[in-house]
Amino acid sequence: MNIILASSEAVPFAKTGGLADVATSLSEALANLGHDVTLVLPHYPQVMPQGHNGRFKIQPYGHPFAVKIGKRLQTGRFLSAKMVETSLSVVLIDQPDYYDRPQLYLQDGTDYEDNCERFVFFSRAVVELARQFTTPPDIIHANDWQTGLVPVLVSEELRKDPRFAGVASVQTIHNINYQGRFWHWDMPLTGLDWKYFNWKQMEFYGELNLLKSGITFADMITTVSPTYAREIQTPEYGCGLETVLRNRRESLAGILNGVSHADWNPATDWLIESNYSLKSIDEGKPICKADLQETMKLPVRDDVPILGMISRMTDQKGFDLIIETSELLMKMDIQLVFLGTGDRRYETFLDDLADRYPDKVATYIGFSEEVAHKIEAGSDIFLMPSRFEPCGLNQMYSMIYGTVPIVHRVGGLADSVVNVTTSTLSAGTANGFSFDHYTGSAFIFTVQEALRVFEDKQTWQKIVQNGMSTDWTWKRSANQYVDVYQRALEKIRPTPASSEVSENPPSTTPPTTPVDVR
Ligand code: ADP
Repeated sequence: MNIILASSEAVPFAKTGGLADVATSLSEALANLGHDVTLVLPHYPQVMPQGHNGRFKIQPYGHPFAVKIGKRLQTGRFLSAKMVETSLSVVLIDQPDYYDRPQLYLQDGTDYEDNCERFVFFSRAVVELARQFTTPPDIIHANDWQTGLVPVLVSEELRKDPRFAGVASVQTIHNINYQGRFWHWDMPLTGLDWKYFNWKQMEFYGELNLLKSGITFADMITTVSPTYAREIQTPEYGCGLETVLRNRRESLAGILNGVSHADWNPATDWLIESNYSLKSIDEGKPICKADLQETMKLPVRDDVPILGMISRMTDQKGFDLIIETSELLMKMDIQLVFLGTGDRRYETFLDDLADRYPDKVATYIGFSEEVAHKIEAGSDIFLMPSRFEPCGLNQMYSMIYGTVPIVHRVGGLADSVVNVTTSTLSAGTANGFSFDHYTGSAFIFTVQEALRVFEDKQTWQKIVQNGMSTDWTWKRSANQYVDVYQRALEKIRPTPASSEVSENPPSTTPPTTPVDVR
């Protein structure tokens, strides 16, 4: 199949969260299955410095284009960023007025005022890219609200052209909490008729809602774990879109994200102090632990359990439980390491805690790939008490690194972490600790339980082994996406879709001067 996967962020180009990891690793997994995949994202000035595939070459691609934004014509151009190590094609949408900014979506905690316009332009550029392919794509795969307009444009504009009548769209929801809601006067920016601005299509309580638009018009919808697919159909987790999703439940699939083995593997990770595998964990992990303690200026002690946490600091991630239980945590013989940035309240609270308990708590407020890898490798326990969690990647990264997760049993955390009990231990499936009720007492009880089991080295080793020996890569899930693509195609093509790999790669203009970027 010929697939365009559109995402507002992707490693190694730009990252604020898990979407960036998933966009690239899923695209690579699909390319490895033999499909023609073009990953497309805006051309931001940020390029991630370390820890990822490293080198790629940027050069002009296709033809410059202009799309209508409201009454204006807005120009842009395509750049190709060929990754040196993979067969994946990456196209960047270059429009400096929109994307050449210090951060991706916001500054000083406030969203950019023209976010609607920036991502309407991006969505139109994605469709324009499809038009420039010599062989039309089979699938355009939109991710989150930033590309929510894409399925609308595919259905209401692109497919009206007979050459593109066979293009299907898929909308993936990575986090339904972010919907791209804008005041109704942004509707004209989309270039679509006001007739679409109704409660069954693009309107939501008087506003334009881009994620709802994508969900309504996509041929298939996916989200990032089976449990989250069920949860978002309920008022508790659906953030107002539960009815929209229930109406489309026949077209909704929950597929657990996979992990990039190239980026997250303690045996090859060049950001950690010592590489190790399941066989050599007893030698390698203590070195990583001591390195983490030194890096975070904590006392270097191998007997004290380190509890690590890497997270956007938002209400979603369970920091209120940490605050509620902090005094109890401080009574335990543990070390706590936090990496994250976001809500000032949480940043300040954790910094203050670290000031008060310098031997027990260390924080790194900011974004650091390097520290993230060091925490995964050097901690004994990983904390992920999220209030809700569509999939979550860090619990899987931690298990790969032999670090046992403690999680709230929701969404993808419920689908990946098997709570330690006598029966899961004897079944050989126990790989972490989970709690059902989102309360401080349930959380602290689970931490105490984990620390108790930590003292029993034999049992702990088994739990670590179960997590490390599970295959968390895309092998499990990439084929499920191919099935979803097939179902999307079957909906719009009169004859059953062929699963054969397209022989015609997308068209390119001859490369001009390549620019080397690290
Ligand atoms: P979400 O997408 O909700 O932020 P995930 O667990 O799915 O949560 O993915 C988060 C990703 O972002 C992981 O790769 C995690 O390591 C990374 N990450 C989050 N905060 C930071 C940070 N401050 N520094 C480095 N990496 C971070």
